[in-house]
Amino acid sequence: MTDTHKTRVALLRAELKKRKLTGFFVPRADEFQGEYVPAFAERLRWLTNFRGSAGIAIVTLKKAAIFVDGRYVIQVRQQVDEKIFAPFHLMEEPPAMWIARNLKKGDRLGFDPWLVTADQAKRLSEACAGVGANFVPVETNPIDAVWNDQPARPSAQLATQPTQFAGRTGAEKIKDLRKGIGSVDAVVLTQPDSVSWLFNLRGFDVPHTPVAAAYAILPAKGKAQIFIAPEKLTEEVKAHLRSNATTHAPKQIGAALKALGRAKARVLIDPVWTPERIRELLVKAKATVVTGPDPVMLPKARKNRTEQEGARSAQKRDGVAVSRFLFWLEKEAPKGSLSELEVAARLKAFREATGELRDLSFETIPASGPHAAIPHYHATQESNRKLVRNEIFLIDSGAQYIDGTTDITRTVIVGTPTPEMKDRFTRVLKGMIGLSLARFPKGTTGSQLDILARQHLWSAGLDFDHGTGHGVGAYLSVHEGPARINKSDRTPLEAGMILSNEPGFYKQGDYGIRIENLVMVHEAKPVSGGERPMLGFETLTLAPIDQRLIDVGLLSEVERQWLDAYHARVLKEVGDYLEGDELVWLNRACAPL
Ligand code: ZN
Ligand code: ZN
Repeated sequence: MTDTHKTRVALLRAELKKRKLTGFFVPRADEFQGEYVPAFAERLRWLTNFRGSAGIAIVTLKKAAIFVDGRYVIQVRQQVDEKIFAPFHLMEEPPAMWIARNLKKGDRLGFDPWLVTADQAKRLSEACAGVGANFVPVETNPIDAVWNDQPARPSAQLATQPTQFAGRTGAEKIKDLRKGIGSVDAVVLTQPDSVSWLFNLRGFDVPHTPVAAAYAILPAKGKAQIFIAPEKLTEEVKAHLRSNATTHAPKQIGAALKALGRAKARVLIDPVWTPERIRELLVKAKATVVTGPDPVMLPKARKNRTEQEGARSAQKRDGVAVSRFLFWLEKEAPKGSLSELEVAARLKAFREATGELRDLSFETIPASGPHAAIPHYHATQESNRKLVRNEIFLIDSGAQYIDGTTDITRTVIVGTPTPEMKDRFTRVLKGMIGLSLARFPKGTTGSQLDILARQHLWSAGLDFDHGTGHGVGAYLSVHEGPARINKSDRTPLEAGMILSNEPGFYKQGDYGIRIENLVMVHEAKPVSGGERPMLGFETLTLAPIDQRLIDVGLLSEVERQWLDAYHARVLKEVGDYLEGDELVWLNRACAPL
């Protein structure tokens, strides 16, 4: 393993010398900046053996460094040869700092401008300029030149998302969007979920996220242009797009951007997501570049009525599968022979039994005992642990159905919990309920509500180190912007947005707790005497919460009522689909406290 990566770094260095570069910047990214990267674009992994979902390497002729976030500081040392790559914490010692310390005047640090966003390129160029070095865009990726058995680009065919599930046609969405883009002549969309949502397309190049890997240019008037490999277009998709868009091979985007320049167009790009090459081509073509948030993000986040209905159906279907699974787990786990991977496979089988499962929405996190203390635990053959009596088992999972995307975490006890486990579980539950019950005026952001999920932990001197909630797509990405619930997010919450509500508590080396429901923002029912319209949350996720872990004495009357009402609803909506022992169990699991 080490020899291979030593050879690969040597090959890259030889290639850099040929190109008169003194270094190269290697992000874990493809041209679309998504969470999942197809095999051909796993350049960071090929070069370093690092297998995490985010990271950056910088290789110069003499040195090499790898940068990973807090999730991966242990993993990186296990996977990467530290004699070749010095590991750094991505936030505490970021690449810009490393550049300032290790590059010198005249150095030329190359980067692939399709894999680096406009914002990233600006920051890194400034860091290089600070020491008199240059951040140099390359025409072709030097890793591709030395990677002999690089896999082919994926070529899965696209599907159309029927209006029955999308709620609005592409033409209707485009019409609405144009009202919102003001004085610009065109928008370049580079996020696959934006393109997929706007044109009612889905794609299957990467696991778990059914997006079409495509860029699009939407002019203020006339047809849009979609840039996608032609082999991905079926006759049905071509017919579906015909009235709204023309389709072009990806390499034709250069000519299209030049044409915008010739037309002296004002062009909107989102620098947080747009590849630096697109910005650069627009500037070279003398177009006026206007920067701002991707205008599709907000309308996509505000689910329309059809998407809302779809989400409810998907959640109910998923709740049936998860409830059947929880019954099975409660019966089997105490026997002591189940492993994390077996349990994850079983949950998938229950979802498959719905007959509607398209994919999981992310890789299931089945975390036994101390593994539950790692919020992003990844179960492998090597790490696979048995479920043990009197330990906690946490399972975070989700599904993709054509009408909606789900994401649910349940934490259960196998056997008997300790009083401390019950105390922590109940505090997490109180936070989850507090957020579920929130009422708030328009304009309120996720950061203003975040404390509701943490207050009962804070009062005991505890906290958790991840966001409380993320946006969720409609048969799209399980992690969707722009709104989030965390300590800093400033996006106002709006009716129709679907977010997760997932506070947790983690005791390192011992156990972890997370309870996650998806909620949808809605206009709250007015209260008597109320003067202003308020928003609130509708809970979408339907599956029992383990009552054996609750310290009832810690719950307020309001919290108790919420939980009893929630369980009554689960019993009513899910119970219709269960029978026999499963239904007997559900009745017990959903009994009032
Ligand atoms: Zn989750
Ligand atoms: Zn989640």
